[in-house]
Amino acid sequence: MKRVYNFSAGPAVLPEPVLKQAASEMLDYNGYGMSVMEMSHRSKAFDQIILEAEADLRKLLNIPDNYKVLFLQGGGHLQFAMVPLNLMKNKVADFIITGEWAKKAYAEAKKYLDARKIASSEDRNFAYIPDLDDLPISPDADYVFICENNTIFGTKYNKLPDTKGKVLVSDLSSSILSEPIDVSKYGLIFAGAQKNIGPAGTTIVIIREDLISTELEPFVPTMLKYHIHAEKGSMYNTPPTYGIYICGLVFKWVLGLGGLEKMKEINEAKAKVIYDFLDSSKLFKGTVDKKDRSLMNVTFRSPSEELDAKFVKESKAAGFDNLKGHRSVGGMRASIYNAMPHEGVVALVEFMKQFEKENAL
Ligand SMILES: *Cc1c(COP(=O)(O)O)cnc(C)c1O
Repeated sequence: MKRVYNFSAGPAVLPEPVLKQAASEMLDYNGYGMSVMEMSHRSKAFDQIILEAEADLRKLLNIPDNYKVLFLQGGGHLQFAMVPLNLMKNKVADFIITGEWAKKAYAEAKKYLDARKIASSEDRNFAYIPDLDDLPISPDADYVFICENNTIFGTKYNKLPDTKGKVLVSDLSSSILSEPIDVSKYGLIFAGAQKNIGPAGTTIVIIREDLISTELEPFVPTMLKYHIHAEKGSMYNTPPTYGIYICGLVFKWVLGLGGLEKMKEINEAKAKVIYDFLDSSKLFKGTVDKKDRSLMNVTFRSPSEELDAKFVKESKAAGFDNLKGHRSVGGMRASIYNAMPHEGVVALVEFMKQFEKENAL
C-alpha cells in the first residue's frame, strides 16, 4: 500500500486512524452485522451516531445551547442560496468580497435580495483581507456575509469585522475546526465537510435559534428551510448517513488530540514550516500579504509559469499530490488541513529546497 502526501484543497486528506477505523467497521459496525452505509437512518444505531457527532462537535466548538447544529447536503453552494432565503426580512445583506467563494455567495444572494458589496480585495486579486474597522454596514442589513478562510487565494481573517450589531454569517468551509472560534459572535456558520471534516456530501450549519424563521416566502422549497431541518433533527429526509458517521469519527480524533487549542498549535507549527521557507526562498514566493496568511491553504509561486508546471509535475512524481494552484490564481497551493501530518509539510519543504537548488536562477 502506498499513500501519498495529499495537498488537495478538497475533497482532502482524512486522518489515517479514522480511515482505518472506518475500514475495520465496513462489514460489521459495532456488532450490528452491517455497514453504516446499509443502515436505516431511523435505526437506533444511526440515531446514536448522529447524536454523538453533534455532541462532539458542540464540545469541540463550545457551541452555546441557543444554537442548532444541522447536518445537511448541497455543499457551500447551497448555503449561498439558503442563507438569503431564510434570513431575509428587509431583503438587504452586506458582503465582504475576499475571493471566489464570497463572490459566488454575493451573486447567488442577489437573486433574492439587495446584496451590497461593502468591502473588497479584488483590486489586488484577493491577496489580502480588507480593512474591517469602519465598514459601511447598511442600517437595514439582515446580515453581513464573510468567507473567513479563502481556500483559493490563501488568506484568512485574523479578526472578525465590526458588523455594528448586524448578524454575522460566515463561510467556514475550509477552516472550521482548525482553531477555536467564539460561536456566540456569529449568527450562522456553515461548512462543507470535504475540506477539514469528512467526505464530500455533508454540510454543517450552526445557526442561532432566533434566526430560524418559519415565516418564509411561499416559494422557498421545503428542503431549503432551516426550520424544517431543525425541527426534525436533520432527519426530515434521509441525511448523508455515511458522511455523518465519518465526520463523527473525525470529531473524536480531534477531541483525542486535545481539542481545538491543541489543533491550533499543531496547525501553526505546520504552517510555520512552509511559510518560513517561503520567506527565505530565492525561487518561491508566497502570494498573499503576510498578515493575512491562511493556516490551511498556502499559496505560492515560482518566477515563471513553466517552472510552476515543472514543479507540479516533479512533486507529483515524488509523492506530493495536488499542489497545482486554482486556475484563477495559478502557481501552487498546498492545502495543509488538520489531517495533513507535520512530516508531510517537512517533506514538502525538503523537496522544495532540492527543487530550488536544481533550478537556481
Ligand atoms: C470549497 C468551498 C466552497 C464550495 O463548496 P461546495 O461544497 O463545493 O459547494 C465554498 N466556500 C469555501 C470557503 C470553500 O472552500
